Amino acid sequence: MSTPNPLDRLLEPAEATAIIRAHTPLLDAERAPLADLAGRVLLEDVVSDEDQPPFPAATMDGYAVVSDDAAPVRRVLGSQFAGTVEGFHVERGTVAYITTGAPLPPGADAVVQIERTVAMPDGVRIDDTPRAGQNIRPIGSDLKRGDRVLARGAMLMPAAVGLLASLGRTDALVARRPRVSVLATGDELVEPGQPLGPGQIRDSNRFALVAALAPLGVTIRYAGLAPDTDAAQRAFLIERIADSDVVITSGGVSMGQKDLIKGLLVELATVHFRQVRMRPGKPFTFATAGPGGRTLLFGLPGNPVSGLVGFEVFVRPALLAMQGHQRADRPYARVRLAHAVTPIDRIDYIRVTLRRADDGLLDAASTGPQQSSRLASFVGANALAIIPPRDMPYAAGEMVDVLLLDAV
Ligand code: AMP
Ligand code: MG
Repeated sequence: MSTPNPLDRLLEPAEATAIIRAHTPLLDAERAPLADLAGRVLLEDVVSDEDQPPFPAATMDGYAVVSDDAAPVRRVLGSQFAGTVEGFHVERGTVAYITTGAPLPPGADAVVQIERTVAMPDGVRIDDTPRAGQNIRPIGSDLKRGDRVLARGAMLMPAAVGLLASLGRTDALVARRPRVSVLATGDELVEPGQPLGPGQIRDSNRFALVAALAPLGVTIRYAGLAPDTDAAQRAFLIERIADSDVVITSGGVSMGQKDLIKGLLVELATVHFRQVRMRPGKPFTFATAGPGGRTLLFGLPGNPVSGLVGFEVFVRPALLAMQGHQRADRPYARVRLAHAVTPIDRIDYIRVTLRRADDGLLDAASTGPQQSSRLASFVGANALAIIPPRDMPYAAGEMVDVLLLDAV
């Protein structure tokens, strides 16, 4: 028996998350153009420097009128369309045709919608007794000058991007995109599309990881495959630590003789932990490197499901947090087990499908055999059920937490 290495201390997932968070920097801010803001986080407060609308505007197509005009048929001065100012002055006995969004001509104080008017040979008949202000958006009714319309930390959802554009902004301050490098390791791995030799399998992890990264606003610096040689993996790590914010490796972090990533990370980086009390994905290395330790390294286990679960639970939140997201974790929900589950000695993340039951609660059913090589049981899973260890089995109908991965 060798003495236990402190790096191999088994951490609870929550402790592992806390350590990663404590080492996750907020990336530098940059000004990004409107077309490149979707899903990013605002790093400035935005105050309106104008009233919206800047003029009283019609909210209906119809006629601009004087509200206390009793004349049944009124003369039409002309058309006031959106986007121009015609210079009409509406007074009793007259109206101006007006379209939605057009500025209200002086003198008018109401808009009668077209449906309540009838064209006559000598003008238009108004079949309405409008009140002053009817169908008009007053100056500043959408936004007032000086209003703080977006706060630092806001997610730039479509409405927020539209609001920035409406205020005349052409860009906004956001965190720059994380530069991410991915390396699959393993002598047994072959590119999809190439013939398989004896004992070989295809590299699936690199492509699953690149797909998992796609919605997270990152720039992929590099995604490749390396054999289990010190030279190849060392060169990758040195180069990518220098030009990436996050380096993700797959494989090579367990106990085997060809698990080289594990040792290389100790040599080239500062390892914070490498075992988490969870299934799948117990071997999971987290390290930092580079100036100020600002490059995060995640050594995922090679088993395809273990790698993806580790990515979901630890890597994805870090990638969002470094871009300023306040809620970097997937949402949790409390759901009902559709069948009994036998707990193990560590937190078990079970791939489940959630379905809404007749009583409105969500039922969680396992997607089938849960071995960590079986990607097929991750397909169709819309959540990971979190099953903590305990003495007795979980019964069907018991409530447990899940990490929501997708819509139910
Ligand atoms: P390792 O963590 O390197 O010991 O790999 C654990 C298991 O995952 C082995 O069965 C590997 O063949 C498999 N594996 C490793 N990397 C990949 C990969 N990129 N794609 C698919 N399977 C992999
Ligand atoms: Mg390997």
